[in-house]
Amino acid sequence: MSECIFCRIAAGEIPAQKLYEDEECLAFRDIEPVAPTHLLVIPIEHIQSQAHAMEEHEALLGHLMRVAAEVASKSGLTNGFRVVANTGQDGGQTVNHLHLHVLGGRQMHWPPG
Ligand code: 5GP
Ligand code: ZN
Repeated sequence: MSECIFCRIAAGEIPAQKLYEDEECLAFRDIEPVAPTHLLVIPIEHIQSQAHAMEEHEALLGHLMRVAAEVASKSGLTNGFRVVANTGQDGGQTVNHLHLHVLGGRQMHWPPG
């Protein structure tokens, strides 16, 4: 059994509120939302972070971005949304399985903390 929490969610070993699933990726609700809508989009394949993505993952990375927009639209984020990929320690990454945060339902601020 994998020790990676997102691999376990992808394998169905840990429950999650899934919004979208295909052979390559999965989108589900963040367990501790920081915005009215807070979704995560992950590849099924375990890739540690964006910094670990290889050239062979280029199409997959594009797919994640497109699915992020699709789940944002399906969630009613017609006024916009923000996609974030926290990467590594300084990036604030806490789960070491590449993921896109999709945040919306309120005004986002810049610069982020
Ligand atoms: P990071 O800090 O790595 O960018 O984001 C990890 C995110 O995963 C956090 O927003 C956290 O709330 C979320 N998370 C951690 N464990 C779980 C879990 O078991 N289920 C779900 N749905 N989200 C989780
Ligand atoms: Zn994983």
